[in-house]
Amino acid sequence: MSRYIFVTGGVVSSVGKGITVASIGTILKSRQITVSVQKLDPYLNVDPGTMSPYQHGEVFVTQDGAETDLDLGNYERFIDINLTADSSVTSGQIYSAVIAKERRGDFLGGTIQVVPHVTTEIKERFKRLAEKSKAEVVIIEVGGTVGDIEGQPFLEAARQMRNDVGRDNVLYVHVTLLPHLNSTQEVKTKPTQHSVNELRRIGIQPDIIICRSDYDISQEIRNKISLFCDVERRAVIPLPTVSTIYEVPLVLEEEGLGQLVIDKLGLKAAKSDMSQWQELVKLIKTPREPVNIALVGKYVELKDAYFSVREALKHAALYHGRDVTLHWVPSETLETDGDYSVLRSAQGILVPGGFGIRGIEGMIKAATYARENKIPYFGLCLGMQVMVVEFARHVFGSNEPNSTEFNPTTPYPVIDLLLEQRDKENKGGTMRLGNYPCHLVPGSRAATAYGQSLVYERHRHRYEFNNKYRDQLEKAGMVCSGLSPDGKLVEVCELADHPWMVASQFHPEFTSRPARPNPLFRDFIGAAKNVFREGAQPPLPLSSLEV
Ligand code: GLN
Repeated sequence: MSRYIFVTGGVVSSVGKGITVASIGTILKSRQITVSVQKLDPYLNVDPGTMSPYQHGEVFVTQDGAETDLDLGNYERFIDINLTADSSVTSGQIYSAVIAKERRGDFLGGTIQVVPHVTTEIKERFKRLAEKSKAEVVIIEVGGTVGDIEGQPFLEAARQMRNDVGRDNVLYVHVTLLPHLNSTQEVKTKPTQHSVNELRRIGIQPDIIICRSDYDISQEIRNKISLFCDVERRAVIPLPTVSTIYEVPLVLEEEGLGQLVIDKLGLKAAKSDMSQWQELVKLIKTPREPVNIALVGKYVELKDAYFSVREALKHAALYHGRDVTLHWVPSETLETDGDYSVLRSAQGILVPGGFGIRGIEGMIKAATYARENKIPYFGLCLGMQVMVVEFARHVFGSNEPNSTEFNPTTPYPVIDLLLEQRDKENKGGTMRLGNYPCHLVPGSRAATAYGQSLVYERHRHRYEFNNKYRDQLEKAGMVCSGLSPDGKLVEVCELADHPWMVASQFHPEFTSRPARPNPLFRDFIGAAKNVFREGAQPPLPLSSLEV
């Protein structure tokens, strides 16, 4: 039977709960314990798929096509597992399931209430993931902050679990912030005491408290929290701010969190082996020469909107012993003031995914710049559509080619909806989502990158390359190097006469792992690192320094 670890957050949001959960998973996995992870999001949206990236950051897509919170991306990257729709639960899902049951008459005329109906539905999600994943430990992150109105049913369900599956099989971990007062040079524990009180009020006594802080946490402070919050001393674990998120598992392991969890849940565990992580963090902390990448997107003001893209670039740069310096270019600025200064110094240009017309012309200009100046270009989903539109404009000598998403009456709809998609209007349900197979054309840059002819990558889009234009664009030098098994959908395209201009209809950023970068990202950085631009001088050969 699975054990459950519930992780709650106190004092403030964005305290680092997601990374803590991912790190607990990493620590347990390093002891050969199988884990799965679930995120509970208290909002009423059924999933974040229809939310603006400004509201929610990136939408992370699982292999089975669930549109989920970006924390799932961190779980996958840290623990190196592939999660499914079962790992993402929102209040919206829970309520719509309960109401659907009520409409079907499943409750036989009873009054439907938060307790027990909603909480039972929530607990079924916990147990379903445990059964399906067969993980020894299921770690569940309760989104939001303790005390939020929306989070209450989730906390109540978490509380009931201790009774349902046995006291020794459930662990409650509370992650809090210890603020620092400059005037007295003190780290304060009172907000933590209050948030633990709030937890206790609803019947949850935390077993472990993880204390986030930008400052050192003294033994005295730990003792105080232990006393006031009634947790063992060794279970008050400091987590100071570190320079890379990948260091968090090492810090928590060092503080004894792994052994503590093993003891409390009575798990059989192998000896911990964190050597790979140590190696990784050592590499990340080694100063490396930068590769300058311009990311031309529409949501660049909110870096979280491209979380996985940024991580995948870092993984790829690390592989090449480089560091990635990202220059965020709001695509609209290229449309209006035509300021190309960032593009001029970039060694590679990346156009990520996105929806809607805003900023599209700026992205197209960036693609023109990359094509004409032979700068490595990498397009992700929308970035591929932009590359196709740009190339078609060049080939047809017209500004008209477009995606019908942006101009429904264009005479050259080079990107278009598939016939079968045309009638569907409900925007929530028309997307191509999750893993699809893709055959790579031998000898292409894509095939060389992957080193295999069949790959599975994750999708999230409505529009497709319009086959009507395939011949003409291929004759002009575009290579459709990745195709669906029936050959009908173009999944990857690249330019023959260009050092590295490659784009995919799928989102390769979701499968990148710190020690195993996605092959397209890896080769994009591989191409970019050898480009020398304005202000980016090649390093002097050592021999030139000899007198
Ligand atoms: N808006 C485009 C489409 O729906 C691209 C989507 C994306 O980049 N994820 O096809």
